[in-house]
Amino acid sequence: MEYQIDKEFAIKKDREDPLGAFRNDFIFPQHDGNDAIYFTGNSLGLQPVKAREIIGEELEDWGTFGVEGHTQSRRPWVKYHEFFTESLAALTGSLPSEVVPMNGLTANLHFLMVSFYRPTSQRFKILCEAKAFPSDQYALASQVRFHGYDPAEAIIEVTPRAGEHTIREEDYLKIIEEQGHEIAMMMIGGVNYYTGQVYDMKSLTAAARNKGILVGWDLAHGAGNIRLNLHDWGVDFAAWCSYKYLNAGPGATSAIFIHERHHGKKDIPRFEGWWGTNKSTRFLMEPEFDPIPTAEAWQLSNAPVLSMAPLLASLELFEKAGMDRLLEKQKDLTGYLEYVIREIAREDESHFEIITPSDQTKRGAQLSVLLHGKGKEVFEYLQQNGVIADWREPNVIRMAPVPMYNSFEDVYRFAEIFRKAINR
Ligand SMILES: *Cc1c(COP(=O)(O)O)cnc(C)c1O
Repeated sequence: MEYQIDKEFAIKKDREDPLGAFRNDFIFPQHDGNDAIYFTGNSLGLQPVKAREIIGEELEDWGTFGVEGHTQSRRPWVKYHEFFTESLAALTGSLPSEVVPMNGLTANLHFLMVSFYRPTSQRFKILCEAKAFPSDQYALASQVRFHGYDPAEAIIEVTPRAGEHTIREEDYLKIIEEQGHEIAMMMIGGVNYYTGQVYDMKSLTAAARNKGILVGWDLAHGAGNIRLNLHDWGVDFAAWCSYKYLNAGPGATSAIFIHERHHGKKDIPRFEGWWGTNKSTRFLMEPEFDPIPTAEAWQLSNAPVLSMAPLLASLELFEKAGMDRLLEKQKDLTGYLEYVIREIAREDESHFEIITPSDQTKRGAQLSVLLHGKGKEVFEYLQQNGVIADWREPNVIRMAPVPMYNSFEDVYRFAEIFRKAINR
């Protein structure tokens, strides 16, 4: 693809974009009377226009029916989570029985580790990535301590090699091969939040499981961003949030995946609640827990309907757009952003570099730019001029042009502002 930093070029690309109209289904923050250049859909996705209407319907049904809305409302609250399972399964390559929306992401990681981190004196280690998202680091370390082990001994972090920014899969494989018999669980961010690196989850999962390791993926940056085949990959468990690429709003409900091989078991350790027990006897309020033979057994509470509602609006758009088309546009759009950053870096004799892999199979929408020499003043100039990106200390700018709603013109407008920011 021959790209150009040219307005006519970008507008032509948008005209040819079959997903171009989806932009109108989202609300853009404004800057000086124009849509801001919103490149932080990896952090908080934009609001679907329909979110307000769907929340409004739930409020209306609450007003109309009161408690009877649990069964009488247009989307009965008693089975509210079920309205999400088909589309969440499609998005993650799972069976509908393997996914359920519930809780927040970090809370879910803990609940999942109750079931899937079962250390023994022979096998108590956790394999993970260095510099994982802090919440994941806290969750892992506190789980280790909870079981009476020392995180310094139990947690094996794989780091990038000297002079490199991303972690090589072969380095995970080597540790799995050599120390696998001591590792109880592997849990990694499928898409690294900092560098945007996408792991080969299929082969890492297979290698770890081959050594008897239970495998979980944190897909906070994966869901809605990359192709996932959790069931076929044989992943034991996974969790993600729905406020990043899934556009369900601040603090929106997380969702979990549990492979069907773990369903219907009574001997699996699990923290339980009434929403995980057999639906036909739930309201008999009897003391015996009878696990639903699906991922729903892990569900504790009744659904937070008002905060889940926007996810319905968003998932409908994912269904309409289709992951194939989204991924095709993602390669083109992120490729265009990569091109403009590289061009401007050349003009500037490269005071900065992209640390996200250039291999399109090893990344999603996000590019992370490491500014050498120049620092936060570049980011602040971008901000003042209507670019909403994300700054990570000490000097990385993360940007994600999201195929669902960003345009080639967004990238072109960014290029003009970025060039000025660099050349000041
Ligand atoms: C965004 C993100 C989180 C956020 O956790 P919450 O519990 O939703 O606040 C956790 N882990 C990763 C890898 C993330 O990217």
